[in-house]
Amino acid sequence: MVNRNNENSGSVAGIPAAGSDGEHDHCLACNSGKLSAAEVKTAIWHGAKLVVVEDVPAYVCDQCGEQYYEDQTAMVLDMMRGDGFDTSEASRKMEVPVFGFRALGATAGARAAKRQSETRKNVADVAG
Ligand SMILES: [Zn+2]
Repeated sequence: MVNRNNENSGSVAGIPAAGSDGEHDHCLACNSGKLSAAEVKTAIWHGAKLVVVEDVPAYVCDQCGEQYYEDQTAMVLDMMRGDGFDTSEASRKMEVPVFGFRALGATAGARAAKRQSETRKNVADVAG
């Protein structure tokens, strides 16, 4: 069984079985992409904590971008997850913007309403 990368479920991808030529060249997600070795970043939710692991050796599909890990790589990621990602061992930290869908939606809605009824708003301000 091969699992594709799903960062939120906690599972990691298995790489498609190598062909007779030993190449991992067939993407199981889109069935047409060619896989090439690359180093990738992956974001992993660990409970309420979000961590990023970079320089992860992977095979990436040139069509759909699906990432596959060797068993060994998946195992190491699992071990890191098991260790709980001690932040004192992190190589660096990065700031991540967080958007609230509701808050952003309300702001966008307000902006749109303001654009649509600029004059009506002015009248309301005077009246209010
Ligand atoms: Zn693909």
